[in-house]
Amino acid sequence: MGQTGSYSGSCFCGAVQFTVSGDPVAMGYCHCDSCRRWSAAPVNAFTLWKPAAVHVTRGAEKILTHNKTPRSSRKWCKSCGGHVFTEHPQWELIDVYSAALPEFPFKPGVHVNYQESVLRIEDGLPKFKDVPAEMGGTGTVIPE
Ligand SMILES: [Zn+2]
Ligand SMILES: [Zn+2]
Repeated sequence: MGQTGSYSGSCFCGAVQFTVSGDPVAMGYCHCDSCRRWSAAPVNAFTLWKPAAVHVTRGAEKILTHNKTPRSSRKWCKSCGGHVFTEHPQWELIDVYSAALPEFPFKPGVHVNYQESVLRIEDGLPKFKDVPAEMGGTGTVIPE
């Protein structure tokens, strides 16, 4: 743990270390096909931060990037293959995977891209068909 309000994260092997500080802009689950295939999991838990809140403290030279689209620069550690975060330049936000932040108190507020879901999660949280209108989506909420 770093200073108050700061949480440490790392890749699978620990070669890449980073911190997040302050409060995230949003937290939730993304069900989109890209996130599922990238994370090799049925759903991806995200925390979105302003770029200034995310600092790589070790192993920056080990971080590689893949852009399937210009909207997402997906980052991982070249030593272990562990994923760390995804930059979303058009939103000026960084998605740090909650699984890479073991001590961060993850409090999901929303599900996005639920129309692509392969794992229904009946937790009572709003389920956006794609993404909220302020993120460029339709803002349509669909049933669980
Ligand atoms: Zn690693
Ligand atoms: Zn996604």
